[in-house]
Amino acid sequence: MTLKNTRADAKKLFRVGRAPTGLGLFATHKISRDTPIVEYIGLRIPIAEARARERAGKARYMFELNTRWALDGSARQNLARYVNHSCRPNAEANIIRGRVIMRSIKVIQPGDQITYDYGREYFDLFLKGLCRCAKCAAAH
Ligand SMILES: [Zn+2]
Repeated sequence: MTLKNTRADAKKLFRVGRAPTGLGLFATHKISRDTPIVEYIGLRIPIAEARARERAGKARYMFELNTRWALDGSARQNLARYVNHSCRPNAEANIIRGRVIMRSIKVIQPGDQITYDYGREYFDLFLKGLCRCAKCAAAH
């Protein structure tokens, strides 16, 4: 599989920048609702291998496609790996025929960080009590 940017990337709707949790993806233009923003690209590997590498602390960017396959998104070309978790996200990850597209679910203003909800399982494992998204930060 080749790693290449999608047409959505080419429009440069975003940039990589500093976020409270490290690096993040930020809108550079107003993004309408329901707009493909960036594709999560990576090599497809069996899910058992993905989970073993995660447990061994050797993988941080595994995206589970289904019960059999995951994408290893650790390649630097995969800008979607910088999309951080939020409990009140402005984008979601759509899996379409084995490809993962980050798509806006509301209007995103220039300068806003682009986020999606990593899901309950990830939250409970890694973020519970530690989440630093805007919604959780306001609650502290
Ligand atoms: Zn949160």
